[in-house]
Amino acid sequence: MIGRPRAEVVSLPAYRPGKAAAQAEAEHNITNAIKLASNETAWPPIDAVLNAIRQAADGVNRYADHRATALREALGKFLDVETSHVGVGCGSVGLLQQLCLSYVNPGDEVAYPWRSFEVYPVYTQLVGGVSATAALRDHTVDLDALAAVVTERTPLVLIANPNNPTGTAVSTDALATFVEGVDPDTIVVVDEAYREFIDPALGNPVTDLLPRFPNVVVLRTFSKAHGLAGLRVGYAVGDPSVIETIDKTLFPFAVNALAQAGAMAAIASISEIESRVQTVLAERTRVVAALLELNISVPVPNANFVWIPFGPRTDAVYLELEKQGVVTRPFSGEGIRVTIGLPDENSRFLEALEGALVT
Ligand SMILES: *Cc1c(COP(=O)(O)O)cnc(C)c1O
Repeated sequence: MIGRPRAEVVSLPAYRPGKAAAQAEAEHNITNAIKLASNETAWPPIDAVLNAIRQAADGVNRYADHRATALREALGKFLDVETSHVGVGCGSVGLLQQLCLSYVNPGDEVAYPWRSFEVYPVYTQLVGGVSATAALRDHTVDLDALAAVVTERTPLVLIANPNNPTGTAVSTDALATFVEGVDPDTIVVVDEAYREFIDPALGNPVTDLLPRFPNVVVLRTFSKAHGLAGLRVGYAVGDPSVIETIDKTLFPFAVNALAQAGAMAAIASISEIESRVQTVLAERTRVVAALLELNISVPVPNANFVWIPFGPRTDAVYLELEKQGVVTRPFSGEGIRVTIGLPDENSRFLEALEGALVT
């Protein structure tokens, strides 16, 4: 080994991104593979977004506005909060890293449900923190179990709602009860990467939680519903003092000029994006119904994917799907996460699954 990398870094597994369709094609000597593995939007960006990005490209010889002031202002208007309550980052993953850098000392505990988003243990370890996890219950975040692992050594709690990879969600009423039970000095992050796909009856943390609890931070992103995963832009909504704190850890010019322009255009054309979300929701309903026909019941999905808890059969089913050119995201021994794609892609998945189940 060259140099002296930190022990926390050496013991991390190398990052393995979801398999690309092209890779599956090469491995199985097939064509027309599709990727339903990363919860992206299947459609290309809308025209207004593409035009804004093209225009912004003319100026990339200059650094962008580090604070992305115009984007923060647009988000503040969109959310009906003061601009000082809005932070931006290089994807919401960038904001998660900033939160860990800002609030977790070496030896501190970061509490989160498990299984959940795979970035949580990585960033916890990177800053020298210790993970304190609470098992899911019925594939759903168990807030009582989570409360039980939060102590005075816990500066940060991470809750993906809906949860990734299980897609289940809890209500803001339940979250409020949880937050009431933790120290007001503990930051509670509600990671709403899939906000646009959640059942609205479960509440909105920006209006239901933030006015009551200054220690709650809501994370959202342009990567999923808005179809801008490749641009890397997410945002945080919270108390101005929290936003000010995490801003100090914002990597210089982390939200690049194209990302700022694309995100602004997406907000300006939100109704077009919402209509795509409606299509995804209708497809999600169709997929769940078709799974039931195959005698497969899944936990109620609140995101743009479904979780199929195949348990010990997971790897075998995953491989059969892949051989038929349908790349999903397996969690060995637990289940498969399948992104809702274009209608044709979802039909192909359902057909492939039927095939996979008989082999
Ligand atoms: C996809 C996802 C994100 C989004 O990450 P970006 O960095 O904004 O692309 C954040 N949290 C969860 C739980 C996710 O699944």
